[in-house]
Amino acid sequence: MREALAASVGASNLKFDPDYERAADRVAAIGFGPRLGSLLIRYRDANQVRWEREIIARLAKRIIRKLPITHSIAAKVAECALSEWARPHCATCGGAREIMGATLKVVCHACGGVGVRRYTNSERRRIIGAWGGMVSDGYDLALATITGSVAATVGIARDKLCGDC
Ligand SMILES: [Zn+2]
Repeated sequence: MREALAASVGASNLKFDPDYERAADRVAAIGFGPRLGSLLIRYRDANQVRWEREIIARLAKRIIRKLPITHSIAAKVAECALSEWARPHCATCGGAREIMGATLKVVCHACGGVGVRRYTNSERRRIIGAWGGMVSDGYDLALATITGSVAATVGIARDKLCGDC
């Protein structure tokens, strides 16, 4: 479902899409969900990077509301969580889990064949400029907000599109 929604949002010219009505319905459907979830789907699955600043601002606002950390740290925490969520693939194999060796494909050494990049807290500390305590809590909150918002938007869009199905 998320992929279908993203394909619709990413379609540059809906007019010539044979599934025009269905695609247009999908774009409309994610509009019914929470705005943050809709922006996140557009950002990650349809490569609409223009929403990055608004997403970070919205996440930072939520972090500040719950935790006593500065706006600039909250924005960096939000940026870090967004980046990890949007780009989870192993940088070495690109998520394929294998890489081409000299003569045959071998299990990717960087991710151990999982395909997912493992971010460490020291990487997060380098990106954010601080780690531990409130910053770590802020990161968890940002990630939970991201996944919760996307799930809510997909759930509402599915209801709008499927009705009773
Ligand atoms: Zn890998």
